[in-house]
Amino acid sequence: MAIKSKIKGKKKHTNKPTSVKYKKYTIEGDKIVKKARSCPRCGPGIFLSVGKGRAYCGKCHFTEFEKREVEPKLEVKE
Ligand SMILES: [Zn+2]
Repeated sequence: MAIKSKIKGKKKHTNKPTSVKYKKYTIEGDKIVKKARSCPRCGPGIFLSVGKGRAYCGKCHFTEFEKREVEPKLEVKE
């Protein structure tokens, strides 16, 4: 009889990535400059993740669309 060497269902412990909110701030002289925009619903401290032309809050699922930039259209010549 073959003995199962590994116990199924057990996941290997991996450390969760630490919060990197401090990266969203930069200190310029005496001022603290925010790099990311904060969520208008959740308030300051909750930052929006910026995607393609939109900012998204992972907490309240708030999505804010950026100003539509005129994308250069590719002209297809036949
Ligand atoms: Zn939010």
